[in-house]
Amino acid sequence: MHIFAIANQKGGVGKTTTAVNLAAALAANGQRTLLVDLDPQGNATMGSGVDKRSLKSSVYQVLLRLSSLADARAPSPSGKYDVLPANRDLAGAEVELVDLEAREMRLKAALANHRDEYDFVLIDCPPSLSMLTLNGLCAAHGVIIPMQCEYYALEGLSDLVNTIKKVHANLNRDLKIIGLLRVMFDPRNTLSNQVSAQLEEHFGDKVFKTLVPRNVRLAEAPSYGVPGVLFDKAAKGAQAYMAFAVEMIDRVNSWKETA
Ligand code: ADP
Ligand code: MG
Repeated sequence: MHIFAIANQKGGVGKTTTAVNLAAALAANGQRTLLVDLDPQGNATMGSGVDKRSLKSSVYQVLLRLSSLADARAPSPSGKYDVLPANRDLAGAEVELVDLEAREMRLKAALANHRDEYDFVLIDCPPSLSMLTLNGLCAAHGVIIPMQCEYYALEGLSDLVNTIKKVHANLNRDLKIIGLLRVMFDPRNTLSNQVSAQLEEHFGDKVFKTLVPRNVRLAEAPSYGVPGVLFDKAAKGAQAYMAFAVEMIDRVNSWKETA
């Protein structure tokens, strides 16, 4: 079981779109996949076709140990993956976890019981470096960082990289950056191309080969509760996320060969 957190403390950079579409694309490739929604906004939940307003239990109850993961998860009606859903309740967890023991290891512990059930677990983190994101980073083997190729993209990146280093040093020796995913890419924009080239220069093979273009079909899909890769399979955005899933599967397999 490979556990990847999809993180970037900036909002609106494509975390949830990446989480939902990678989950659906991995599932379409026969990978047993769980998508964990760690954002109180519940966008990954809704985007997977699970109604956040009618949950009996959610990731909130799992983190507070009021419910088991087995009781809280739900299958995505459109994708062939499971969702550990979230809604507004989760906003309270931030404060409620503070005084509890092993507060940042709650998600890790919950996932440990299901090690043999999934090939991939993807964690959609909220736009902050909070206790919730910390639970995601402590549970994960690696981080996938979606980013837009714009002028300020690199600025925020150093905060995230420093946080990942601290978590690695103090809480989770397994954690590493798997890669940077360029999203909402506009090939006709000169600045996008410059920033993209800079990323490749600084981060080398930590930059995924797949480029996800800006594509309106990906933005439309969530309102139908269907992942973009299934909503319009022919769209450029859908094809990019399908290619990204294959790139991830190849990468994971290459670890096995060198291990
Ligand atoms: P985050 O989870 O980081 O806040 P989202 O995935 O919710 O970011 O994306 C922010 C907005 O951008 C959403 O409205 C989403 O539909 C849109 N979006 C994300 N990726 C793309 C893309 N490749 N092309 C077009 N719109 C996109
Ligand atoms: Mg999001």
